[in-house]
Amino acid sequence: MKIKLKPWIQDLPEYVAGRTIEEIKKAYNLPDVYKLASNENIFGPCDNVKEFIRNNIDDINYYPDSEYRVLKKALASKFNITSQNIIIGSGTDQIIEIICDGYISRGDGIVIADPNFLIYEKAALKCGGSAIKVPLKEFRQDVGGIVSAVNSNTKIVFIANPHNPTGTNIKEEEFKYLINKLADDILIVLDEAYFEYLSPEERINTMGYLVKKENIISLRTFSKVYGLAGLRIGYGIAYKGIISGLEKIRLPFNVSSIAHNAAVVALENDWYIEKIRDIVLKEKEKFYSILKKEGVSYVQSHANFILINCGDFGTEIVEDLLKNGFIVRPGENLGIKGFLRVTISTPEINDKFLSLFIKIYKKYIE
Ligand SMILES: *Cc1c(COP(=O)(O)O)cnc(C)c1O
Repeated sequence: MKIKLKPWIQDLPEYVAGRTIEEIKKAYNLPDVYKLASNENIFGPCDNVKEFIRNNIDDINYYPDSEYRVLKKALASKFNITSQNIIIGSGTDQIIEIICDGYISRGDGIVIADPNFLIYEKAALKCGGSAIKVPLKEFRQDVGGIVSAVNSNTKIVFIANPHNPTGTNIKEEEFKYLINKLADDILIVLDEAYFEYLSPEERINTMGYLVKKENIISLRTFSKVYGLAGLRIGYGIAYKGIISGLEKIRLPFNVSSIAHNAAVVALENDWYIEKIRDIVLKEKEKFYSILKKEGVSYVQSHANFILINCGDFGTEIVEDLLKNGFIVRPGENLGIKGFLRVTISTPEINDKFLSLFIKIYKKYIE
């Protein structure tokens, strides 16, 4: 083919898509298939959001408000900031992409923990940059190691809090260490996709740091606890100089009007978030107690998923789960071979999963 990609795009690995429910139903002739692979909220958004979407589709012939003013206003009042501190993206994935587009040139670098959410590295490589990867320490992001890994090419440090795929969190003193040690010309991206799953005492008051420091951006999303992953909407909060730079890159109508309006209604119903968190907390305890009883090791999680140690049989166990209608994320696709990552679901589905998992686990490991 004479059409040539940019060399650094040519070298990007191909994306391995997850299996869909329909695909698995057909492949194994199963009536029920459960997708516990992408950390979505199985309960979906609250009823008020769904009802609003159903009743408010008459204006989809119009483009959305390119400034997403209503949502920005609602977020500004929730966090006691201004609309100029906020960027709205088609998922936080898009904001990560915009950040790298804005700050990474060929030869520049990012520093991240390894393994990690895959989008950070992809977004940097796409711009001709590279990633320095610092191994996790006991499943946690090694803040000291990350600081030491920074060099003169480093433009961005990404921290996921809670971290994906482990579910571990960063403590406030670690975050303080990080922002004190890193020079002010390095952007710290704090990806807080699972923020709402942290208990209030575990949360870092990100907004308090954002008003003092110009080199931090916090990313949050409506995809996870808010149950709107399919609508694609997330946001970033930072010093207004950072936001105005990113706004130059953002395309005017990057988020749909339905997503914009639904997010506003979701914010008005924050009580729902507490309800989901309580259920997930309780269900996680159930996972822990059964896994412990059966001698299965796992990582204590601060999000809505659990990383489970499958010893030498990660691939086989994931495959057997699939044949029985449970789609989970194999560790090898996440850079952590021998593990699987499972999303917390409804109490009934969790029970089904756990009894099946234990049965399969024992088949391989005794
Ligand atoms: C799910 C997830 C996101 C959010 O992605 P969206 O694009 O907002 O759907 C961001 N970061 C991490 C670590 C995630 O797991």
